[in-house]
Amino acid sequence: MISYYDYQIIENEHLYGPGKRLLLFLQGCSLHCEGCVNKHLWEFKKTKLIGTNEILDICERENVDGITLHGGEPLDQAKDLLEVIKTLKEKKYTVILFTGYNKKEIKSYALAVWKLADIIISGRFIFSKQNFYLQFRGSTNQRVITHKGKYKNYKVKDGKTVSILSIDSSGNLNIKGFYSKDIKEITHFK
Ligand code: SF4
Repeated sequence: MISYYDYQIIENEHLYGPGKRLLLFLQGCSLHCEGCVNKHLWEFKKTKLIGTNEILDICERENVDGITLHGGEPLDQAKDLLEVIKTLKEKKYTVILFTGYNKKEIKSYALAVWKLADIIISGRFIFSKQNFYLQFRGSTNQRVITHKGKYKNYKVKDGKTVSILSIDSSGNLNIKGFYSKDIKEITHFK
């Protein structure tokens, strides 16, 4: 079972990849990049767990193109993740993997997950290299890697900032994406 924080169905190519996707935020990250905006996902805890069958059910019910794995750090749960990814790939769903690791740092289960992903966004977030105008990435050192398959020739489109703002039932502002300090200040108007 995978420990996760939240999931949603989303269509936002700039942030999460092409088509309609199951966006899954995993819980737990050992990398602790300075300036990470997802610190609430660092702690390893098993409050919410999800398995292959439930993920597959969601993908089929929502008729998604694939899954986007976001952090937390997906490869810190690589052993459990591998079973899920194998099943999804057999069913022809695409996999987009956001990871703070580089390929040379990983082996075994993590490397197997890496090899099955269609698009990988790889590398630590480095605060001094932060750039708001990149597709998928938060800092210029991070790399986008594509494998054979549907997205083999995918062209990354940098040059704009995209944020998704939503307000929950308690009135809290939720921001997804790479946002500038100006937008962040909206949170103070609650
Ligand atoms: S790898 Fe991702 S989730 Fe983990 S600390 Fe770095 S930016 Fe945050």
